[in-house]
This record gives sequence, C-alpha cells and structure tokens, in this order.
Amino acid sequence: MNKTTRLVYSSDPELNKKCLKCKEVVSECTCVPEVDPKSYKFVAVMRMEKQGRGGKTVTVIDQLPKNEIFLKTLTTLLKKKCGSGGNYLMDGKEGVIEIQGDKREIIRPLLLKEGIKSKG
Ligand SMILES: [Zn+2]
Repeated sequence: MNKTTRLVYSSDPELNKKCLKCKEVVSECTCVPEVDPKSYKFVAVMRMEKQGRGGKTVTVIDQLPKNEIFLKTLTTLLKKKCGSGGNYLMDGKEGVIEIQGDKREIIRPLLLKEGIKSKG
C-alpha cells in the first residue's frame, strides 16, 4: 500500500493533534482558541455601563485576553479587592470582566500591579 498518498491529509503533525476540549483533531476543532495572556499585548479598556432594569452601574473592563484561567483569576481578585460582585464573559472577540459599581479608582492600580495597562 502506498502510505504517502494515504497520509496526505494527516501528514502535518500539527493537524493530527487533538483538541483538549472537544477531543477533535485540531483541523476539525471549532473551539475558540485560548490566548496566552503573557504573549498577548493588550491595553484593557475600562468603561462604565448601566445594567439591567434597576440601572445599576457596572465597571466593564474590556479588551482582555480571551483566556478563561486568566479572566477567572483576575475577576476573583477584583471582586475581592472591590468587595463587590462581578463576572467575566468570553462571548465576543475579547475577554470582558464586569465588576458591580463604579470601581475604576480601585481597579486601575490593581491592574497596574498585575502588569496590565489600562485606559478609560
Ligand atoms: Zn476543540
């Protein structure tokens, strides 16, 4: 049997790797790739938003690396330091953290301490 012709599709070892999430080969995987926050240059953008029917203010930190561990860790830290609720979102192109209340003055130096530049 001629192996070379049979293996054309899978000759690239990169494409034969399996995705850790869905267990599909990487070429078939439709998962959103996670970004290594250390290799990802970004400037977090803070903005205030009104949320829900009560119109509660939330501090939104946008343009973050889309990495669940990174977002989870940072959200936990910010919630603790701000003493308020919050969550992270990975729906869009970038990672987003929302912290309840206007916490920009607390969050800004915390981000800086984590080596994260921010504006807004
Ligand atoms: Zn996958």
